Amino acid sequence: FNVPKPQNEPINSYAPNTPQREALKAKLAEMRNSVADVPMYIGSKEVRTNKKLPLTCPHDHQHILGYYHEGDESHVHQAIATSLAAREQWANLPWENRVAIFLKAADLSATKYRMELNASTMLGQSKNAYQAEIDSACEWIDFLRFNAHFASQIYAQQPESSDGVWNRLEHRPLEGFVFAVTPFNFTAIAGNLPASAALMGNVVVWKPSPQQIYSANVLMKVLKEAGLPDGVINLIYTDGPMTGDIVFKHPQFAGVHFTGSTKVFQHIWKTIGENIHLYKTYPRIVGETGGKDFIIAHKSADPKALAVGLVRGAFEYQGQKCSAASRAYIPSNLWKETSEYVTQFLNEIKMGGTEDFSNFVNAVIDEKAFDKIANYIQQAKASDKVEIFAGGNFDKSKGYFIEPTIILTQDPRYTTMCEEIFGPVLTIYVYDEDKYEETLELVDSTSEYALTGAVFSQDRYALEIANKKLVNAAGNFYINDKPTGAVVGQQPFGGARASGTNDKAGSMLNLLRWVSPRTIKETF
Ligand code: GLU
Repeated sequence: FNVPKPQNEPINSYAPNTPQREALKAKLAEMRNSVADVPMYIGSKEVRTNKKLPLTCPHDHQHILGYYHEGDESHVHQAIATSLAAREQWANLPWENRVAIFLKAADLSATKYRMELNASTMLGQSKNAYQAEIDSACEWIDFLRFNAHFASQIYAQQPESSDGVWNRLEHRPLEGFVFAVTPFNFTAIAGNLPASAALMGNVVVWKPSPQQIYSANVLMKVLKEAGLPDGVINLIYTDGPMTGDIVFKHPQFAGVHFTGSTKVFQHIWKTIGENIHLYKTYPRIVGETGGKDFIIAHKSADPKALAVGLVRGAFEYQGQKCSAASRAYIPSNLWKETSEYVTQFLNEIKMGGTEDFSNFVNAVIDEKAFDKIANYIQQAKASDKVEIFAGGNFDKSKGYFIEPTIILTQDPRYTTMCEEIFGPVLTIYVYDEDKYEETLELVDSTSEYALTGAVFSQDRYALEIANKKLVNAAGNFYINDKPTGAVVGQQPFGGARASGTNDKAGSMLNLLRWVSPRTIKETF
């Protein structure tokens, strides 16, 4: 019953004059020109309420893509009750059946729904075609297929037996329901958090970020068409704090699968602690939170490769990746050449909406994000401690556009070297090329986060020093590459410290958090 290890889903090219490009353009036009009506999904029901809220394009905020139906307390209660009613049948279904549903969802996503998944992510979350393809197509499909493979390996894991004794391990689902709280920045993550818990036999209440509801609706359609039984995943659009108040006081709350901000995750953790006496079982708390991801170069690094790493690492998807490079440490001997390459690349980059496929940078997700990021840039402009090396302009008249911005600082602890900005802002500190080891210590101690980081060097000894000194500074550590773009099955993703519980999305480690094994000993 082993599910064979899959290949990573190949990345479609949307180059000019390809049929894929035409198909994606047609889907974009179709979706842009219609007004979607997006219900919640509770059990077999599509739930519509009398509170309809608009779904807009971040790069064209007056354009309405559709309306979603916001729920209230009653819908949270309904979603929990519906999930619990579905639990017994789902938990008792032999796991091969569950795996088959998610493998079918992967195939539907790779074929029939690929363009809709990508177009919804491009319109609703302002990704360019490539960023959408690697997210809502490839990574989502990879999560489904690799998790199916890992699940089969988990179920095959059995303890030793001996003469007259047969020992078994039964990987039961958790006793209760799982709450999935998902982010706007990756459609794949939004789908994976409920799907991976459900794959292991759990029932789920799923609350996505409001900014991702448009593509969440497509994910849900795929799962339903793949045969996911009613009530296994219940998708609701409700106020976060209100939903938390109900979920975290429920005796059958069994776990939370979270990606989002550190602040919210810490609040969730505290709330669970305060309510711990209410629960039937200790809940699983799995979270991926923020990052203040670094690039450090040694004096031996290749300036061109470094410049590519800086620009792609910091500015792809407008820096709205937990993994995005947002602070860099460049040795003085390399600064001139590196900065020339960076300037050249930035001059080649175009900014604009999804309609022009040659745009590299699009809008940030919403006005709140825009204002926060713009405020950091304003403060930098006003400070005499730093200079704006590139970009620095922003405009929200049509969409929430912020130019890729590089701040140069001589203070390695300047605000933007320490705080997570979650936007297209990179701060660079040029260090004395002979102070590599001291600078590594600075990298480790400057931020509370430890998600991703990269070192560029052509000197093996220098790499090894970085490897040792930064051992706890990043859960995903990249050598001579940008710190973003982890591929499922290749670079299991997650970090510790303030970045999360490091349960590595898309790995067996993560799936093991969603089972509660029972050991059975039988004697003859
Ligand atoms: N897995 C993504 C990457 O490697 C980042 C995920 C996130 O932003 O949460 O770039």
